[in-house]
Amino acid sequence: MTKAPKLHNDCFVLPMGVHWTPVDEALALLEARLQTVVDIEVCAVEASDGRILADTVVAPRSHPPCANSAVDGYAFAGGLLEGSHCLDLQDGRSAAGEAFVGVISEHQALRILTGGVMPQGADTVVLQEDVTVEAGKVYVNGPLKAGANARKSGEDVVQGTEVFAAGHTIQPQDIGAMISVGVAHVRVFKPLRVAVISTGAELRAPGATARPDQIFDANRPMLQAILRRWGMQVVDMGIVPDDTNLVRQALDLAAEHADVILTSGGASAGDEDHMSAVLNETGNMALWRIAVKPGRPLALGLWGGVPVFGLPGNPVAAFVCTLVFARPALMQLSGAGFTAPQALSLPAAFIKTKKMGRREYVRGRLRGGAVEVFASEGSGRVSGLSWADGLVEFPDVATKITVGQPVRFLPYSSFGL
Ligand code: AMP
Ligand code: MG
Repeated sequence: MTKAPKLHNDCFVLPMGVHWTPVDEALALLEARLQTVVDIEVCAVEASDGRILADTVVAPRSHPPCANSAVDGYAFAGGLLEGSHCLDLQDGRSAAGEAFVGVISEHQALRILTGGVMPQGADTVVLQEDVTVEAGKVYVNGPLKAGANARKSGEDVVQGTEVFAAGHTIQPQDIGAMISVGVAHVRVFKPLRVAVISTGAELRAPGATARPDQIFDANRPMLQAILRRWGMQVVDMGIVPDDTNLVRQALDLAAEHADVILTSGGASAGDEDHMSAVLNETGNMALWRIAVKPGRPLALGLWGGVPVFGLPGNPVAAFVCTLVFARPALMQLSGAGFTAPQALSLPAAFIKTKKMGRREYVRGRLRGGAVEVFASEGSGRVSGLSWADGLVEFPDVATKITVGQPVRFLPYSSFGL
């Protein structure tokens, strides 16, 4: 009886004598070779959420523009020493949007409301709860420091200072900050247009009928959703069968309508890996054999001058490679600059052994202050991506991780998801 040959235990070991590009080297190359490819447009601040600044933003005016009161009370000059004091109540008041016209002299107090401009001559406010007002007099007990309960002009932002740097992605709170200093319009980069192509003879569109030997195209809608979260404009190129001519046609069309092309499937060097074969014809494609799991190899090329990221077909590998490699590259092309996720250092709730010299990413989640990993590292298990809250990154040099050892946890939010 002939027995099928057993798989070697080391079937995932990197071949000897072949150079596998370390992840950091691959990222450095991408950073060095890519630059902003999108044009600039002007956008109203109100509509700028998620947009990337093309210029630094400088405050046209200070915030607050004038010294004003932080409370409802009485404004006067110079603070108070310990003990009781009696101030003369000045006629009139200062309320938000209704500044007092006039000057406060020593021993005088003016009724002031929160946001009311500090009257000339006053620098301190006493809370209305801390005074007695009677017959034109304001009775106060000290001590009260000079400047108490008052906001200084420009204490938040001084006119002419930089509030945001070019490349910054505008967040909802930034809209508030820019409007506070009088910014009405910003120069931003146009959203990066990203064409998404799925390749594979077995692929069927979501909702279509599928034979048992066919599978649904999970990658394209998943990648499109990711790109939209990143503020990019998706150009949907559909599913392309494993056919060299059709792959060429799809790339031509995508290059016409997009700034960058993201494909999944057919990126290796197999018989049906038409994406890498077609990209190879152009002569400026590189099959990047990156020392990473999951995901090698990654086919990178230019098609009609448009960068193409040929991701692996496997949905887990496609997802991980999109976060780890495509995201910083797409951000660089978008004008946001090369971005690295912020990792948390947290104790492992698991044991793992790994091959030396390879960066590994596994699906992980945070429970009870420790990081758990998905039971299977099989990259066909798409459900594990949903089980997880992020990725756990194991350094190239690590070989064994034990319970309690700190590991790098990259929450999905650190990838802008
Ligand atoms: P490939 O990279 O084309 O060799 O594909 C690797 C594996 O991923 C195969 O099992 C494919 O059927 C699967 N695959 C490729 N593209 C997709 C896709 N868009 N959605 C789900 N699975 C896919
Ligand atoms: Mg395929």
